[in-house]
Amino acid sequence: MDVEDASEVSEAVQVLRRVFGYEAFRGSQQEIIEHVIGGGDAVVLMPTGGGKSLCYQIPSLVRGGVGVVISPLIALMQDQVDALRALGVRAGFLNSTQDLEERRLVEAEFLAGELDLLYLAPERLRVEQTLNLLDRGKISLFAIDEAHCVAQWGHDFRPDYLALSMLHERWPDVPRIALTATATDATHTEITSRLQMAKARHFVASFDRPNIQYRIAAKSEPKKQLLELLRSEHAGDAGIVYCLSRASVEKTAQFLVDNGIAAVPYHAGLDARTRAAHQSRFLREDGLVVVATIAFGMGIDKPDVRFVAHLDLPKSVEGYYQETGRAGRDGQPSTAWLAYGLQDVVQQRKMIDGSEGDEAHRRRLSAHLDSMLALCETVECRRVRLLAYFGQESAACGNCDTCLAPPQTWDGTVSAQKLLSTVVRLKRERGQKFGAGQIIDILLGKKTAKVIQFDHDQLSVFGVGDDLKEAEWRGVVRQLLAQGLLAVEGDYGTLVLTETSGEVLGGKREVPMRREPEKQARAARSKA
Ligand code: ADP
Ligand code: ZN
Repeated sequence: MDVEDASEVSEAVQVLRRVFGYEAFRGSQQEIIEHVIGGGDAVVLMPTGGGKSLCYQIPSLVRGGVGVVISPLIALMQDQVDALRALGVRAGFLNSTQDLEERRLVEAEFLAGELDLLYLAPERLRVEQTLNLLDRGKISLFAIDEAHCVAQWGHDFRPDYLALSMLHERWPDVPRIALTATATDATHTEITSRLQMAKARHFVASFDRPNIQYRIAAKSEPKKQLLELLRSEHAGDAGIVYCLSRASVEKTAQFLVDNGIAAVPYHAGLDARTRAAHQSRFLREDGLVVVATIAFGMGIDKPDVRFVAHLDLPKSVEGYYQETGRAGRDGQPSTAWLAYGLQDVVQQRKMIDGSEGDEAHRRRLSAHLDSMLALCETVECRRVRLLAYFGQESAACGNCDTCLAPPQTWDGTVSAQKLLSTVVRLKRERGQKFGAGQIIDILLGKKTAKVIQFDHDQLSVFGVGDDLKEAEWRGVVRQLLAQGLLAVEGDYGTLVLTETSGEVLGGKREVPMRREPEKQARAARSKA
């Protein structure tokens, strides 16, 4: 191999080696960096761990002036700045956690041209003072990190981000680079238009994370299922377990500790010091499990997270992808495991129905949930479905649960008809609303107190479904929900028909269904 003469390698490569100590660029980093150094705008879609930071850090160092980085991750700014300073990069930040004096100091450095990079929380840009400050310094570029936050269609919309279109109006000559690790086509389009980046070059890396094994299981006893996963496959490994509520975070962490697994909770209800302590233990110790709400993980750079487990259904495929993406940044085999059940769907519908915001907002949340359900109930390769969601084609991966143990399909048309006609029968009973439990009891011919109370044992459909087990009926309900042939509403998870249910009832539509792998069905039955 030829020894390169320093004068022959580009300035970007020199900075990569001299400042960051890396030998070569990865993927399209160099192309992106050269484009921004040349003054062009860029929209960068790259999965977690792909190396987005260098894409704005190096141009900031090569172009004269200060690179201004807009980031919502206030909690991480101190760490990011410390890490850069350790490399000799002159970095600072401005956010709401600082007192006046700290802020003044950073502002003075900025004005004196003593900074290479300035991290800003988006809400700072609503303060006229900040804008005036930026006017008085020399800005080399604007980097908009976590750019999906500008998209209302996305899963993590932040109103403060809408103001970022102003950057272009106020500083038209300063190049901008917007970066995100999650964007569907719709979100990508929205980022482009909201940030007025129609003329930007777009760099879309593959979203595939080949070392992550995606698995989605039917939920029966989630904590026990989790424990079995950890004991059989991830003993001593570091990992993240996501739960929807603070209460279940606490309970699950305690359960793991009681069973001899080093685990700590993390959620917004804990005081700041405890959170910071748990986060830094996770980063430093080997084999710690953090049980968290989604408040945990964004921007955390821990390479050897071996598993991400979800005990509750994520609200969107984008969220699921982002959270599971925290596993295996080092490229080593890692597991993304999700347990989900009917109750998740009921609970999330309830949250959507009760959510603040307009009808359009609720429709968006519904669409997100529907896509997530479709991923859960697919008989196809999980990875194929996941990448298709981000507009990328791929072949079956051979490594996800459905590839490794292809679910059998069966013709569920008749079962669907039985279930839907039970829903129709119950609808006629004015004022009474029934969830999946009652409907399944009727189909199975169970004379429970509630069945007797409402004379449901007198219905013609009573007992017509005894060819399936309870867990199988729950699977039927989930799949009808996932296929949009049934819906759930209200606080009690009332099952209702949809516009397309009639096609099934009228015999105009077949309903292929996924058969639960035997092991899961057995686990679900033993609980029932
Ligand atoms: P992202 O923001 O896309 O999730 P980061 O910018 O945090 O990713 O980079 C992920 C990890 O990869 C970091 O530890 C970073 O230092 C490292 N990295 C990035 N680019 C390179 C490169 N060209 N060579 C070696 N390591 C790199
Ligand atoms: Zn697969």
